[in-house]
Amino acid sequence: MEDTARELNLRIAGMDCADCAAKLEGSIARLEGVRQCRVDFMTAGLRVSGPVDREQVVARVRALGYDVAEPGPVAAVEPAGGRWLRLVRQPRNVATLVGAGFILVAFGLRLISSGQAAEPGWLSPLLFGLGGLSGLWFPARAGWATLRSGQGLDMNVLMTVAALGAFAIGEYAEAATVIVLFSLGEALEGYTVDRARDSIRSLMHLAPTEATVVRECVDCQECQGRPLPDGSGLYRSGACPWCGAEEQRVAVETLRVGDRVIVKPGERIPMDGTVLRGRSAVNQAPITGESLPVEKLPASQVFAGSINGDGVLELEVTRLAADNTLSRLIYLVEQAQTQKNRAQRFVDRFARVYTPAVVGAAALAALLPPLAWGAPFLDTASEHGWLYRALTMLVIACPCALVIATPVTVVSGIAAAARRGVLIKGGTPLEALGRVRVVAFDKTGTLTQGQPQLMETACADACCASGNGAEAAADCQHCDDMLAVAAALERYSSHPLARAVTATAEQRALPRLAAEGVENLPGQGVRGRVGERQVVVGSHGLFHDERLHQSELCERLAAAEANGHTTLLVQDGGALRGYLAFSDPPRHTSRDMLAALRKAGVLRTVMLTGDNPGVAGSVADELGIDDVRAGLMPENKVDAVRNLLTTYGDQVAMVGDGVNDAPALAAATVGIAMGAGGTAQALETADVALMADDLLQLPAAIRLGRRVSRSVRFNIGFALAIKAVFLGAAVLGVATLWMAVFADMGASLLVTLNGMRLLRR
Ligand code: ADP
Ligand code: MG
Repeated sequence: MEDTARELNLRIAGMDCADCAAKLEGSIARLEGVRQCRVDFMTAGLRVSGPVDREQVVARVRALGYDVAEPGPVAAVEPAGGRWLRLVRQPRNVATLVGAGFILVAFGLRLISSGQAAEPGWLSPLLFGLGGLSGLWFPARAGWATLRSGQGLDMNVLMTVAALGAFAIGEYAEAATVIVLFSLGEALEGYTVDRARDSIRSLMHLAPTEATVVRECVDCQECQGRPLPDGSGLYRSGACPWCGAEEQRVAVETLRVGDRVIVKPGERIPMDGTVLRGRSAVNQAPITGESLPVEKLPASQVFAGSINGDGVLELEVTRLAADNTLSRLIYLVEQAQTQKNRAQRFVDRFARVYTPAVVGAAALAALLPPLAWGAPFLDTASEHGWLYRALTMLVIACPCALVIATPVTVVSGIAAAARRGVLIKGGTPLEALGRVRVVAFDKTGTLTQGQPQLMETACADACCASGNGAEAAADCQHCDDMLAVAAALERYSSHPLARAVTATAEQRALPRLAAEGVENLPGQGVRGRVGERQVVVGSHGLFHDERLHQSELCERLAAAEANGHTTLLVQDGGALRGYLAFSDPPRHTSRDMLAALRKAGVLRTVMLTGDNPGVAGSVADELGIDDVRAGLMPENKVDAVRNLLTTYGDQVAMVGDGVNDAPALAAATVGIAMGAGGTAQALETADVALMADDLLQLPAAIRLGRRVSRSVRFNIGFALAIKAVFLGAAVLGVATLWMAVFADMGASLLVTLNGMRLLRR
C-alpha cells in the first residue's frame, strides 16, 4: 500500500515531439521498481509510481537527452513572450533556423552563379555541410539516445543515417534539405502542442476551484459596538461572541493549514488533510490510481484532488498542496496524450516493425546487388549506384508523415475544442465524439438551468392553503419549519435542488439548524440527523417505496408534478412534514443545441432523469426530445445507456452533471460532463467536459470529432499513397534523391499543415 502510493512527479525539459514522450515512457517503464509511468507530451509532465529512486529516474531522463525541471505550478504560469518567440527560443528550433539559413544562402549562391564558375567549388558543400550539421545535431542526439536505451530504431536514426549517407556520396544539398525539413516538421508539431497547452491552461480559468471553509467570525463588522455578554465593555475586535463559526465559500488558494473545510458529496477534496468528522468512501484514483474507493473515518488522511463519495467530510487542512487545482486539470490532460486513439496505436505498432524493416531493406539494397552481381555501388557516369538508390529508398520510406499525421491532427483538435471551452481528455474520446449518433441527457442541471425556484410548500396536515405558489405559503409557520429542517441537510449537498432549498431558507432568514451524519442518496435525496431525529429529504419515488404518505398528499403531489414541478418530501423523525415543489426551466440554449445536434447527424436524443415523469415529460415536450425515461436511479441510467449501446452500437454519448450520472457517463461511448455547474465526480468520470456549461458547444464538439477523424484518415491515406508511388519509382531506378526528399518531407509537412487547419477559427 505504501509502495503503490509512492509517486514521483517531474517535469521534462526539452521534449519536443510526441514520439519522444512515448519513448521516454517506454524507457523509464523498464527501470526496476517502476509500476507505472506516464509521460505527457503536452504538459511535459512525468509521473512515476512504484518503489524507485528519484535519482535513477532523473539519470535515465538525462541519458535520453532531456532534462528534468521541478514540477509544481510551472504549467499554470503562462510562459513569457509570444508563442512564436517561445518557439524560436528553443535550441532545437534555433538549430533548424540556422540550418535553413545556410541552405538558403547556398541555394542563393547557386542561383546567382548558375552558368558561370564564379563560386569556388568548396563553398557550396561547406554551406550545405554547415546547414546539414546544425539541422542534424538534435535529431542525431535523440536517435543516439534511443539506440543506446535499447529501444531499436526510430525516425531520428533513420533520418540521420539517410542524411549522413547522402553527404558521404556527395549529395550535399539533398542531405541538408532533408534533415532541415525534418526538423521543421517537428517544430510545427511543437508549435501545435504549445498552442494546445495554452488553450487548456486557459480552460482552468473556467473551472471554479472553491472550498467550503468553516471560519470563526473575527473582527466582525456587523456586531461591532455591541455590549459584550460578560459586561466588560463594547465589542471591538477579535472573535465575535455572537456569530460563532460560519461556513464560507472561498478560493482554494486562500486555504491555510489548520483551516476546517467541509467537503460535500461528489466534491473534490481541496487540500491534503485529516478527517475531523463524518465518514465517506473517497475515490483516490486521480491521485494514487487505485480504482476502488477508500473508506475514510475521523483521523483518516485524505489527499487533495481525490473525490468525496456520498458522505459529508469535515477536514482539517494539514498541508498546502499548492498546485492542486492545476494538477487536477493537468491530470485530465495527461490522460489525453497517453490514451492514444486507434489510429495512433496502429501507427505506433506499424512504425515499430516498419522502421527497422526499412533500414534493413535499404542496407540490403545497397550491398547485395554490388556484391552479388557486381552492380555499381557508387554512381557511375551513366547511372546511379546502389548506395544512392538505397538512400533514396530510405528517405522515401521514412514513416515521418505517418507518425506525425495523427498526433498533430488530434492535438490540434483538442486545442480547438479547448478554445471553445471544451476539455477533451484525449484522442480516443475525440474520435468517439465524431462517431456519436445517439445522445442521452440528464435533465436537472444539464438540460435545465439547474437553478430551481421554490414554487410551493405544503404541510402534510393540510394546515395551509396549497398550490398558490411561494407567496401564499410564505407565512405558514409549519412550512417554514419544514424548510428549515430540509435546509439543515441540504446545506451539505451539492445538488441543484439542495442549493435552491438553502437559498430560500436564507432568504426567509429561517433559523439555521445543525445536522449530523448527512448522507447523499444519489438520484433520490439526502438523509441525516437533525438534533435527535432522523430526517429524510427526497423524491416522491423514494417515499413511495419505503415511507407511507397519505393518499391525499400523494394526489396533491401528483398534481404539482403534472404541472411540471419537481417535488421533494420531507420526513422529520416519524412524521411526514410535507413537500416542496420547484420549477427548473430549461436552459435557453437547450432547444438550439438539440436542433444543431440533429443537423450534425445525431439520430436520436433521449432524456434519462431521476425526476418524476410529469416534469420529465413537460421538459421533453418543450424541447423536442425523442425519448424520455423518468424516475431513474443511477443504476437505471446505466441500464438505459447499455440498452442504447446494444441498439445503436458504440456511438452513444451521455451528458450529465451529477454524482448520480457518473456511472452512466462511464458506461457510454463518450461521457460528457458539465464542467462549471457539475460535480467533480461527473467531471472525473467523463471523457469530455463542457467547462463553461455551454451546451451549444456539444454539437460543435461532435462536428470537430468528425472533422478530426476525416482528417486523420485522409492524412494516413495520403502519406501511404505518396510513399507507394515513389517507392515504385525508386525500385525502377527512376526516383532521384530530390524526389524522395519531397515525397517524404513534403508529405510530412502537408499532413502536418492539414492537421493544423483545425486550429483556425
Ligand atoms: P436528474 O437525473 O434529473 O439530474 P437527480 O437524479 O439528480 O435528477 O434527482 C432525482 C430526484 O431525486 C430529484 O428530482 C429529487 O426529487 C431527488 N433528489 C436528488 N438529490 C436530492 C437532494 N440533494 N435533495 C433532495 N432531493 C434530491
Ligand atoms: Mg442532474
